[in-house]
Amino acid sequence: MAHPYHHALSSVRQFGGTPEDYLPLHSWFDESKAIIADFRHRALRHHAEGIFMAERLFGTTLTLSTGRIIPARWIGEQHVREDLGRIPSFADWVRAIRPEPWMGRAISIDIAGLARGGEP
Ligand SMILES: [Zn+2]
Repeated sequence: MAHPYHHALSSVRQFGGTPEDYLPLHSWFDESKAIIADFRHRALRHHAEGIFMAERLFGTTLTLSTGRIIPARWIGEQHVREDLGRIPSFADWVRAIRPEPWMGRAISIDIAGLARGGEP
């Protein structure tokens, strides 16, 4: 499993700058390893929506230490492609989740009672 630093070295080869220019973005993608230590952690951010989320967090562009300005999405796309070989959608990940009964369990809510000002 590639470490964020190794992704950053790959970014340097492709776009210039230093590893430190890229480490925050690559580390953000892999922070989900703190939740689950195997490759399934990637379901949280390694997809098209995750790349757009990185853009919202890090800005549309990154200004490298060399002064070069590059789209943040390029770095997200590079990270996801290096880990998965392609950029999946979140729907691709969802199709791999085996549904369990607890996922659809609901409790009844007295909506009419709440509308009358009752306690939940
Ligand atoms: Zn990763």
